[in-house]
This record gives sequence, structure tokens and C-alpha cells, in this order.
Amino acid sequence: MHGSVILLGPPGAGKGTQATRLSEVSGRVILSTGDLLRAAVANDTELGRAAKGFMDAGELVPDNLILGLIGAHLATLDPNQGILFDGFPRTIPQAEALTTLCQIEMVLCIEVIDDAIVERIVGRRMDPQTGEIYHLVHKPAPPSVTDRLIQRRDDTEETVRTRLSTYHEQTAPLVDYFSSLGLLRCVDGGQDIDQVHADLITAMTDE
Ligand code: AMP
Repeated sequence: MHGSVILLGPPGAGKGTQATRLSEVSGRVILSTGDLLRAAVANDTELGRAAKGFMDAGELVPDNLILGLIGAHLATLDPNQGILFDGFPRTIPQAEALTTLCQIEMVLCIEVIDDAIVERIVGRRMDPQTGEIYHLVHKPAPPSVTDRLIQRRDDTEETVRTRLSTYHEQTAPLVDYFSSLGLLRCVDGGQDIDQVHADLITAMTDE
């Protein structure tokens, strides 16, 4: 069974950025359901066509589709490969299913207040060539790449507000769920990126 670490937190908490850095230092492979779904949409697969409407509306893709996607990806990995989940699980049924698929070592929760999230997400831009995430105000891209930056289609203010309420209704209950299993470790995601990274490393290595 794969050992796994889960990154939990609202949209825009910095899970993707921190996952990349944690993967570099821990050797764990990242499994991001958001990235896998966006690839499925871009490739116009059956899953992509089923998921697109939910994603554009800021709603969750149904659990059965997500669990099929996760199961298919886990099957391609060496069972000894450690995993870092980004954006999964997002519902209690997903979390319960995961406990049968992986050994969950810990859940790292990145906490950010709602007011900060909207500002962060609406200014978020990505360099499609490198995958690097920038922010119009807080992390401007170098002039050489500004022309090619793209904005995620679900990063508009209206969709962000729906994604946040979806998070509070369906995903935030996972905080108590994983806390009751003794797996939860929380860090303050309102700090600068390097400090959040340092706190995550401390949380990961604490006995
Ligand atoms: P993300 O990149 O993690 O913010 O995910 C983008 C969108 O993909 C979400 O707003 C959902 O519509 C969908 N999505 C990603 N992961 C999941 C998941 N575990 N369960 C349900 N929907 C998901």
C-alpha cells in the first residue's frame, strides 16, 4: 500500500505551489486531481467532458468519477512510491475510500482566511510552458514571460466565491475527520511562501 501525505486547504491556499516544493525535498510524487481533471478537459476525454461543467461552475466533480481517476493513477505507480495528494480528498466519502487505498501518514492543513483567498486567486496567473504560478501583485512574472501567462478559467471572482462555499460545505468537515484520526497537522498559510514551506517541513518531520 502506498504511504501518502495529504495537503488540505481551501482553493488558493498554496497547495499546488507547496506540493511542488515538498515533492522536491521528499521524493514523493504529486497526485493532483485538479491537474488530472484539467488535462482530461484539455484532451476532451470522456471524463473531461463529464467534469468540465462542474469545474467551470466551481462545484465538485462527483465522487465516483474522482475515485475512478485516483484508482487508475494509483494502479500505474510502484506501491513503494510515496504520494503527496493535492486537492484530494475533498469529501468524506473520498476520504473514507482513500483509507482503503493508501496508508495515510499525515494530513497537512494549510489555513488561509476567506478574504485573502479571493484576492489571491483572482490575481493568479500561470506560465503554461513551465507551470510556474505567479500573482499580478504579489509575485509578478518576469517581463520575458508576461505575454504568455494564462488565467485558469475557474479563477474568476464569481467562481471563486462558489468554490469557497463548496469548500466550507463539503471539504472543511475533513479537518475534524482527520483530526479525530490523529492525522492532522496545521500551518498558517497566510505567511510568505518560504515560511509556509518551512512550517510544512517542520510539521512533516515532527514526531
Ligand atoms: P483544484 O485545481 O484542486 O482547485 O481543482 C479544480 C476543480 O476541479 C475543482 O473546483 C473541482 O471542480 C474539481 N476537483 C478537483 N479535485 C476534486 C476532488 N477531489 N473532488 C471533486 N472535484 C474536484
